[in-house]
Amino acid sequence: MFENLQDRLGSILNGLTGRGALSEADVSAALREVRRALLEADVALDVVRSFTDRVREKAVGAGILKSIKPGQMVVKIVHDELIEMLGGEGVGIDLNAPAPVVVMMVGLQGSGKTTTSAKIAHRLMSRDRKKVLMASLDTRRPAAQEQLRQLGVQANIDTLPIIAGQSPTDIAARAVQAAKLGGHDVVILDTAGRTHIDEPLMVEMADIKKRSNPHEILLVADSLTGQDAVNLARNFDDRVGITGLVLTRMDGDGRGGAALSMRAVTGKPIKLIGVGEKMGELEEFHPRRIADRILG
Ligand code: GDP
Repeated sequence: MFENLQDRLGSILNGLTGRGALSEADVSAALREVRRALLEADVALDVVRSFTDRVREKAVGAGILKSIKPGQMVVKIVHDELIEMLGGEGVGIDLNAPAPVVVMMVGLQGSGKTTTSAKIAHRLMSRDRKKVLMASLDTRRPAAQEQLRQLGVQANIDTLPIIAGQSPTDIAARAVQAAKLGGHDVVILDTAGRTHIDEPLMVEMADIKKRSNPHEILLVADSLTGQDAVNLARNFDDRVGITGLVLTRMDGDGRGGAALSMRAVTGKPIKLIGVGEKMGELEEFHPRRIADRILG
């Protein structure tokens, strides 16, 4: 399963196995290679550092270096640690609250927030037989509201009728009210994005949260974001408080290092991943698969 890493570390660790023991210098050499793999996968530097520290501690601490196959043991520690840092298997969306359960989607413009809102609605409807209402809170971009409405029409998902001139918080309150009246189990709030994080955006998100009392606040992030992922996740989590992450564009060429960075700085689970533009292209997160990809 972790052949890639084995290959990568092979030249360093193979041959050492015959000796029956690894020195700390051998481990350091192997960790330099791990570090390079993680940086190439666009994992943030801080996260890379804390990861290699944890691996070093385990490898050097537990008498592993003197075990029969220390090379394989080091590879296993790297792999296991990576999976642990990525978090457990997909925990899914938590709907364990009185209906209508409010799910607030946050993130930067272009991250895939609107598409993901519709994908989640579609999933909850088709798999969990839930009645779902979606509402766009992007009052600054009428095209965004229209995009959500159209996705609703295409996938047969209820959307809140658009009323021009309403504030995002008023739309949020109206959506919750409409969901109550309409007997919806879940209401998905697709909030406005910006091209970058700014103060008004964070204030707006906090206001919407206060007004709509969401049970889930999901940060949608482009998995190709790279090093910026850390700031993005930290800001949204500190200012708004997220309950989970959804990573989009996992169908792309990226190695998915953002997953590790965002999970590490927030400690919040990666709940789902987007793997394409189509409605059904949303999958559960499997840390093992991403770990293999990150280690490349
Ligand atoms: P928003 O501005 O955050 O609401 O972003 P959109 O939902 O409008 O998405 C921006 C673009 O990314 C659209 O063309 C989507 O079809 C595309 N997109 C969203 N999620 C994915 C994904 O998981 N994979 C791929 N390949 N494209 C995606």
